[in-house]
Amino acid sequence: NPTPIKTDAVIIGAGPVGLFQVFELGLLDLKAELIDSLPQPGGQCAELYPEKPIYDIPAYPVVAAQELIDNLMAQIKPFNAGMHLGQQVERFEKREDGRFTVVTSKGTSFDAGAVIIAAGLGSFLPRRLRARNLEQLTTDQVQYKVTDRERYRGKKLLILGGGDSALDWTMDLAEVADSIALIHRRAEYRGAPASVAKVKALVEAGRVQEHQGLIMEVHSEDGRFTGLEIMDLDKQRTVVEGDEVLVFWGLAPDLGPIADWGLDIEKKQLSVDTEQFQTSLPGVFAVGDINTYPGKKKLILSGFHEAALAAFGVQKYLYPDKRQFVQYTTTSPIMHKRLGVS
Ligand code: FAD
Repeated sequence: NPTPIKTDAVIIGAGPVGLFQVFELGLLDLKAELIDSLPQPGGQCAELYPEKPIYDIPAYPVVAAQELIDNLMAQIKPFNAGMHLGQQVERFEKREDGRFTVVTSKGTSFDAGAVIIAAGLGSFLPRRLRARNLEQLTTDQVQYKVTDRERYRGKKLLILGGGDSALDWTMDLAEVADSIALIHRRAEYRGAPASVAKVKALVEAGRVQEHQGLIMEVHSEDGRFTGLEIMDLDKQRTVVEGDEVLVFWGLAPDLGPIADWGLDIEKKQLSVDTEQFQTSLPGVFAVGDINTYPGKKKLILSGFHEAALAAFGVQKYLYPDKRQFVQYTTTSPIMHKRLGVS
């Protein structure tokens, strides 16, 4: 195992609140490492509504969600937080010395003074296929991402979905697969118009077969996948046979491993105090949409405030004897030094 990355605080989740947490820790001269299961920072803002305007961020009459994230990234730049994207935090452990070992799905490990959970609604994970008899499969013929396109060479491939991922992979894998059946619940696709046109051309050319309907049942033989039974819009059932399945039904948040960490949970949220936003385990803090306390409102604005107080909480946990005081970024030479401004 590689040497763990040593840091003052690990922040789980790089949504708007996790990003601002880096800033608030940085002002107190505390170093942070950010981890997110998504390939890009920004949490819900970047994943769910990047182009939508937000109207309730103080001092911004209007700001697009992605622009808010870009600005937060610029604001935290002076603090050089490590960014570990595309990996989920699967477990952490509090050691006897009060520090934490944090490990991600990619095997990256951290030796952290404190842990701040800014995990929003949880990790965004692929929506799973749900159908009768799915549990009878003993193979990995149902996949949620393409890790090796050669896997599909010469195969009868079933692609589920109607968004950009489904369409892009249909176009791409049409070159290697023996055949592709594109199965979507309705006739209209949600993907970019240019992609829809290209897929329609592949349908015309006989390279792709389209099916509309709901997935009802998985057919298999001795644990091996053989086909999907679908019910079309006229309630007719047909079986689409194939060797491999790719499911692109988008991402949905899932509390995931956090639920098993032994922290106090109330209605799928982590209970915290409102002085430092600490969870039931000292040294572990929770900010943003993931936490709950009397009066909690799931707003970015509230998350920013929580991050400021949690930073002081982390400082107190790491340096219990240090005197705490607020320094203005406007006038404090120490703040200017930390921010790299003169
Ligand atoms: P999130 O943005 O949810 O980010 C959490 C991150 O943690 C995610 O990226 C996730 O992948 C990651 N994560 C979770 N678990 C793990 C794990 N185990 N390992 C690694 N990574 C993990 N709020 C407003 O204030 N104003 C608005 O106008 C507004 N409009 C909205 C419109 C829409 C359509 C939606 C959906 C929300 C809106 N919100 C708005 C709510 C706002 O987006 C959330 O309050 C905010 O995103 C919460 O930020 P966060 O950083 O706490 O969590």
